Amino acid sequence: MSLDEFGLIERIARRVPARADIVLGIGDDAALLQPSPEQQLAVTADTLNAGVHFPLETAAADLGWKALAVNLSDLAAMGATPVWCTLSLSLPEADAAWIDGFADGLFALADASGIALVGGDTTRGPLSVSITAMGRVPAAQALRRDGARPGDDVWISGCPGEAAGALRLWQQGRLDVRGVAADAGHERLRERLQRPTPRLALGRALRGLAHAAADVSDGLLADLGHIAARSGVAAVVQADAVPLSAALCGALGDAAAGDCALRGGDDYELCFTAAPARRAALQALAAHLALPLTRIGRIEAGEGVHCAGAPVAGPAHGYRHFAG
Ligand code: ADP
Ligand code: MG
Repeated sequence: MSLDEFGLIERIARRVPARADIVLGIGDDAALLQPSPEQQLAVTADTLNAGVHFPLETAAADLGWKALAVNLSDLAAMGATPVWCTLSLSLPEADAAWIDGFADGLFALADASGIALVGGDTTRGPLSVSITAMGRVPAAQALRRDGARPGDDVWISGCPGEAAGALRLWQQGRLDVRGVAADAGHERLRERLQRPTPRLALGRALRGLAHAAADVSDGLLADLGHIAARSGVAAVVQADAVPLSAALCGALGDAAAGDCALRGGDDYELCFTAAPARRAALQALAAHLALPLTRIGRIEAGEGVHCAGAPVAGPAHGYRHFAG
């Protein structure tokens, strides 16, 4: 079924529940939102363009999930609790089945994370999804990139590199991003690429424990580099301490797996720094969340990111738009 702009908006708007912190939601010229006192708002935006950020054949539901997940990951990295979001959609055609599938993925994650869709824009054009997400964080408690101190440990959540591993398999023609993969390891990697889990509970729990944090969207070394630069310190990574999953090593071999873990993007794990006195508390948190937290290096005086003492080989900056 083909719809006009307002038919599309209506198919999205009818899924949004009413809430006390939304004075006026979808349907007027702007939304009216009621922030709570004593809280600061964390605001972030991310766009996914077809063919640049996701394979063209990506299922609509996976795209809806991921477009929100990458924004929630930024809120997680700030230690913020998701509250509101807007959605700007550029679509080549107005297809009801596509929009319903997209909404299935988007609202599965929106409802689970407590974020409400309060507005957006819908236009015709190349397939592109842009979300702005807002979260709340108690005043002065946000996790920032600029708080790392010499002597801190560097930590990573989960097993980085799995999403990049899935992308490599897809580029090699060994993985269909739309279908469940027959191989259990390949399927795990595909899930990590298509349905990333924003580490919201971890981010909130790190308030008061971590000195600095960033989510790994550009690659572990690149995002740790952002922490180092913003904090005016050096980060030294023990490359062999970075956890590699059996699924990733099995699919690509140990060398390529290590490269994906250090340089691959799209992980949405949290990289953070904390004082050594916090080690026991962080291990207890890992057990509580059933999410591995691994110490992979330390912060020193100086600048840049170093692997096992030596400058990192090859570009550490991850993917860059407009580069070269
Ligand atoms: P305007 O022309 O005043 O910008 P629109 O006609 O673009 O308003 O949108 C009508 C209402 O629908 C607005 O409240 C807008 O925020 C909302 N809206 C439009 N597109 C979307 C979307 N993709 N998701 C959620 N809300 C949307
Ligand atoms: Mg508009």
